[in-house]
Amino acid sequence: MPGSTCEQLTPTEREVLRMLVAGLRVTALAMETGRTESTARTHVKHLHQKTHTHDIPALVRWAESHRHCCVG
Ligand SMILES: [Zn+2]
Repeated sequence: MPGSTCEQLTPTEREVLRMLVAGLRVTALAMETGRTESTARTHVKHLHQKTHTHDIPALVRWAESHRHCCVG
């Protein structure tokens, strides 16, 4: 769907989402991807803005409902 939230996610944001769904914390996720924690937090912040969520559990629920489109 053009212009949908799914299309707005960058490849990095999708990767971050998959890791959050897998249960990684932001600090672990940063280490795992070789990024700083502050960079990882910025990606998470953008994900919250794009998906209109305000915490990690809500973001994970959003991602789980997108497993078969943008997150999978
Ligand atoms: Zn999607």
